[in-house]
Amino acid sequence: MQYNTFQDLKLSALGFGAMRLPVLADGSGEIDQVELDKMVDAAIAAGVNYFDTAYPYHGGKSEICLGKSLARYPRESWYLADKFPGHQNVHGVKQLRPEEVFEEQLKRCGVEYFDFYLMHNVNENSMGYYCNPDNHFIEYFLEQKANGRIRHLGFSCHAAPEGLEKFLSLYGEHMEFCQIQLNFVDWKLQDAEKKCEILKAHGLPVWVMEPVRGGKLAKFSDELEAKMRVLRPDESTPAWAFRWLRTVPMPTMILSGMSNLAQMQDNLKTFAEHKPLNEEELQLLRDIAASLAKLIPCTGCRYCCPGCPMQLEIPTMMSMANDMAVAPSFNVVARYSALGEGKRADSCIGCGQCTEACPQKIDVPEEMQKLAELMSRQKTWEEICREREAAAEALKNEK
Ligand code: SF4
Ligand code: SF4
Repeated sequence: MQYNTFQDLKLSALGFGAMRLPVLADGSGEIDQVELDKMVDAAIAAGVNYFDTAYPYHGGKSEICLGKSLARYPRESWYLADKFPGHQNVHGVKQLRPEEVFEEQLKRCGVEYFDFYLMHNVNENSMGYYCNPDNHFIEYFLEQKANGRIRHLGFSCHAAPEGLEKFLSLYGEHMEFCQIQLNFVDWKLQDAEKKCEILKAHGLPVWVMEPVRGGKLAKFSDELEAKMRVLRPDESTPAWAFRWLRTVPMPTMILSGMSNLAQMQDNLKTFAEHKPLNEEELQLLRDIAASLAKLIPCTGCRYCCPGCPMQLEIPTMMSMANDMAVAPSFNVVARYSALGEGKRADSCIGCGQCTEACPQKIDVPEEMQKLAELMSRQKTWEEICREREAAAEALKNEK
């Protein structure tokens, strides 16, 4: 494992993000504790010492299951990060009070202190809460820091560079680190380069989230992956995204939201040693970034889902829109059709709740409209099946 220094700590360069944990195969959506324990065992055996969860992950169960898994190891052998969901206070029905949430989080995780604690998802929408001094959240967390229940205070940020500056101008003196979305696509697309410059100017180390963009940089077309395999026969596609992060000023922490043991083992292999990308490989990533910049930048975080009055599967449909843009296919049309009446893009009422909740600032209603129009021009799955049956019948008659 490679390590980085943060103040007086030695942190593993790879951190285990608990946003997309393994779930049971019974369709319940419950976290698979047995698989999670195996992943934590593998991570700790390979030297990972940083684990990251948040109040809303898996509806609160990420904190519980991760805490349970880590409790099998001595408390001083791992670092735990958790986050205050102030972003939910802007549009949420119930206002989440820092003192209540914090106590609940300690209980859920089964710990007496957090090594790292973050203001979650500072962005243009949540600024309304985070930048209102009347909310007094910072005073509460500084008090917890003073009494040792928070060891290091920071924030995660999806805001544009101007928003990042604004938050720092208010609370920068109290922040010790900042987590941003950083990968070879968002370096330009979301101006991560500029955000890194701002953080450097404020003397704050960078924590990376979404290094493979919710899995979008973990799998490409067979043709593209064949090209990558020729250049790096022993490396997986995600490894390229992690290697790229060593070509920019070195982040202190790279969080990867792993969902199964195989992903964990692949990442552990990548972080076992430094294998720099050469110019030809970097050019290939630049080409991929240019082609992906045209796609909808949905990471599948699902922040938009709970508030959708039509209960639409927004990330699934954003993914389908991207699939259709890359290569229109009957399979995508069939999956879209299977969403069912009232659950497809044409049922979006354009309320805009999702866009306000979206850290990527995607104009979801517009994308929904485009998808609905595109799909209305496609043959339905039933039509395709009828055509296929007719063709098969015709073939039989010819014989
Ligand atoms: S704009 Fe459409 S997709 Fe977004 S929350 Fe409203 S109904 Fe749901
Ligand atoms: S549309 Fe935005 S909020 Fe919704 S899943 Fe995608 S990235 Fe997340």
